[in-house]
Amino acid sequence: ALTKRVAVVTGSNKGIGFAIVRGLCKQFDGDVYLTARNESRGMKAVEDLKKEGLNPLFHQLDISDPTSIQNLKTFLHKQYGGLDVLINNAAIADMTEVLSFYGITQKGDISYAKQAENTMKVNVWDTLAVCDALFPLLRPHARVVNISSEASTMIYPKCSKAIKGRIRDPDITMDQFKKLFREFEAAVTSDTVEEKGWAKVAYGVSKIAVRVMSYIQGKDLTKDTKRPDIVVNSCCPGDVDTDMTDHRGIKTIDEGAETPLYLALLPPNVMGPRGEFVKDKQIEQW
Ligand code: NDP
Repeated sequence: ALTKRVAVVTGSNKGIGFAIVRGLCKQFDGDVYLTARNESRGMKAVEDLKKEGLNPLFHQLDISDPTSIQNLKTFLHKQYGGLDVLINNAAIADMTEVLSFYGITQKGDISYAKQAENTMKVNVWDTLAVCDALFPLLRPHARVVNISSEASTMIYPKCSKAIKGRIRDPDITMDQFKKLFREFEAAVTSDTVEEKGWAKVAYGVSKIAVRVMSYIQGKDLTKDTKRPDIVVNSCCPGDVDTDMTDHRGIKTIDEGAETPLYLALLPPNVMGPRGEFVKDKQIEQW
């Protein structure tokens, strides 16, 4: 039926996204879509959850492919007439930056500029493209969770006063947001990242961007009087044992899924968190 509730998790064939699907299958009242860019990896993950007695559904989604995003949008519109939970989990990280988090120095095998460009593209612009396509489908009381990272909090102090001011400007608009992070990319290209007041950690900057983007999205959707009570938050799952962290993280994927699940399942008309960055179920400021 068109009124059946539906949840979508991006990049959920493995890692934290997979555990978020597992948790939603247990707790969310509606259909849950495990999505993956690679159909066979996605179907395998669905089968694994079925063996646990859960019932996720599958849809292909490559967030870097506009046609794939459009196909999912058309499908959701036709099958459900809307969307109730969207979890933007898909992301990439450069192993050199990840290992430096664990105190290990290693030289990357691709140039800093190239990996910074890739990271910004997938984590920020492709994620925003998913939002732009699917947000019109969000129904009243929908919950959106954008997976950011504690890396944002760690990198923020390394930025200049001017950049910090723009990052935390309460009145920032989506256009100003785009301009700000395009400037970071231009600084990467011209090799002036530090001179321009940024930190040379593209993953951290991309996760700052996700956090700012979520704040603006939350603010903008609040103004939509036709669709009350849509809540957008960003979060950090914690330091989780996944491929992304080279399995150095301490939390299990199910522990990592706890805060994203908490935000996805916020009850109707909840006071907050709204437009916040949340870690261990607590709001964290810059
Ligand atoms: P993994 O690398 O284990 O999983 C990432 C998932 O995203 C995979 O399913 C991957 O698919 C998918 N993905 C990547 N690019 C795309 C794309 N273009 N389209 C669709 N799917 C894509 O990472 P984690 O589970 O560790 O991370 C999940 C989220 O949590 C990320 O946003 C990450 O930044 C964040 N995070 C993780 C932390 C940790 O400690 N692990 C800490 C803080 C934040 P495929 O299998 O095809 O590559």
